Amino acid sequence: PRRVVSGLQPTGALHIGNYFGAVRRCVRLQDKGDDLMIFIADLHSLTTHQDPAALQENVLDLTACLLASGIDPDRSVLFTQSSVARHSELCWLLTCLATHARLAHLPQYKDKSAKMKEVPLGLLLYPVLQAADVLVYRGTHVPVGVDQLQHLQVASQLVRTFHHRFGRTFPTPKPLLAEDGSDRLLSLRDPSKKMSKSDTDPKSCILLTDSDDTILLKLRKAVTDFTPQVTFDRENRPGVSNLIAVHCLAADKLPEEAVEEADGLDTGRYKRVVAAALSEALGPVRERAAALRRRPELLRDVLRHGAVRARVRADEVYESVLARVGLAPPV
Ligand code: ATP
Ligand code: MG
Repeated sequence: PRRVVSGLQPTGALHIGNYFGAVRRCVRLQDKGDDLMIFIADLHSLTTHQDPAALQENVLDLTACLLASGIDPDRSVLFTQSSVARHSELCWLLTCLATHARLAHLPQYKDKSAKMKEVPLGLLLYPVLQAADVLVYRGTHVPVGVDQLQHLQVASQLVRTFHHRFGRTFPTPKPLLAEDGSDRLLSLRDPSKKMSKSDTDPKSCILLTDSDDTILLKLRKAVTDFTPQVTFDRENRPGVSNLIAVHCLAADKLPEEAVEEADGLDTGRYKRVVAAALSEALGPVRERAAALRRRPELLRDVLRHGAVRARVRADEVYESVLARVGLAPPV
């Protein structure tokens, strides 16, 4: 059977790219019967500055969002990365197989580090920890946005290096790319960039926590082009096509169906249609998340229960890894 592993950083409210591209896809895989490990990547979040008190709140916010989106903590294993020490332990072993040159060349590292005066080593090692996150459960599939493909290639390469030195130990994790375009929603303010949590312009993304009014407002300000008709053409009309993609994800439609529905509407009017579809899709999730968030004890219980289950799986894999490497504890 497939073992799917996915993580999300607790760095503030999720945007619709994270929701449709990562969370909802995980829920659908879970509901189709895949074995899902889903974790809150709190260790990853430390690669940029986090206020300790805010981090704790963010972990609970994200837990509430995941449950509200349909993650079922009995069928899937939901936990925080820091509660399973094996992620960090395996990361060290992999760090010794990774090369500086390979990591320093990754576009995401280059982009993010270019904006910093002092670059934390953790930012460079981020993809190695990501590899550990998957391999420590012998994960076979990782649902990712296209922004993560290169990181998954790092993981495959680490698997090859590990096997070459120590013998076959892990499956090579495969990316699960979406067919519905959910793996790359674009910024509403600049359709040449992906929608991103770290974008400084709040109008660039719609958050899962946004009210219906805010959704409409942000969509009305979304950058399109000078052609009023609604047509789907990712190459030449990225802004309008991104609106169509959002509409399709929210209302479970194909682009041709959305375009047909937009017949006779200009892009301005069409934005209202998209806003209505989005409000309908997100409203119930937003309300369930808010209700769950008022029950922090329940959320902590879910995470504790998940951590116990995750540790059992990680221990088993890690022990066999130690033996391979020659670090088996003395008998
Ligand atoms: P940051 O700007 O801090 O990197 P982010 O918006 O890229 O934030 P991440 O926490 O890095 O969010 O990614 C969480 C998940 O959401 C990953 O699986 C990633 O592939 C997916 N994802 C991120 N951005 C998008 C997007 N624009 N469209 C679809 N999926 C996305
Ligand atoms: Mg990212």
